[in-house]
Order: sequence, then structure tokens, then C-alpha cells
Amino acid sequence: MHDDCQFCRIVAGERAAHVLYEDERTLAFLDENPATTGHTLVVPRTHVAEVATADEPTAAAVFETVRTVATALESVLEPDGFSVFHTSGPLVGNVDHAHAHLVPRRTDDDVRLSLSRGSLEPDEAADLTGRVRSVL
Ligand SMILES: [Zn+2]
Repeated sequence: MHDDCQFCRIVAGERAAHVLYEDERTLAFLDENPATTGHTLVVPRTHVAEVATADEPTAAAVFETVRTVATALESVLEPDGFSVFHTSGPLVGNVDHAHAHLVPRRTDDDVRLSLSRGSLEPDEAADLTGRVRSVL
């Protein structure tokens, strides 16, 4: 546990949170600054900075908990859909404890997850595909 990490303190029960679900590897609780009703954070119990590149059991557990809680939120809130995302590295906010956002969505909500998108260039795509596949 990192004493200065607010998510570690929630996991340890030293900081209050509205916990929706917990198991041996993960905890899911309501975000203190929700984008929508039911905005939930899913965190591993262990302090790791990255979900996507964490050890396989940890990463799998986080996304399994996202699925479990999404199913419950679907039943309770009947949203129009969900946005699920996580951010890591220097782009992350003020908590470096890996977390996935589970955001119930409505077609008329104010959430904006905009991406400035380009076109996939065939040569670049073939090169990248080859490089990634070579390490898998
Ligand atoms: Zn932590």
C-alpha cells in the first residue's frame, strides 16, 4: 500500500467510498466527481500504475469486475449504453493507481469523449501490424 495514494486508502478501508462490489483482486466504487449517475471506478487492490500492462490475473480481474458491475448498473439504471476507458502514464490525473472508468451513458448526456481521428494509411498499418505481431 502507498500511504499517499487515495485509492490504496479506499482499498484498505481508511478512506470512505461507496463500494458497489469487491472481490479478492478488485474494488469498484462510485467516482466522487461523477460524469453521469453511476460513474464507477474499478481498481486493482494492489497498487499498480497500469491496468493494460499489469500482470494477466490483475488485468483480467479489473475487466471482469467492469463487466460484473456494468451488468448490475444496466439492471438498476437502464442506461442507453456505457463508455469504458482508462488512462495511464503522464496523461493520467492526480491518482497513479490504475483504474478503469465505467460510465453509464444516455443519448442526451453531457459526456464528451472526442477523438481527433485520421485515416489508416496502408503502408503504415502494415508496418505497425508486423511490428506488433512480431512481439506477440
Ligand atoms: Zn494505490
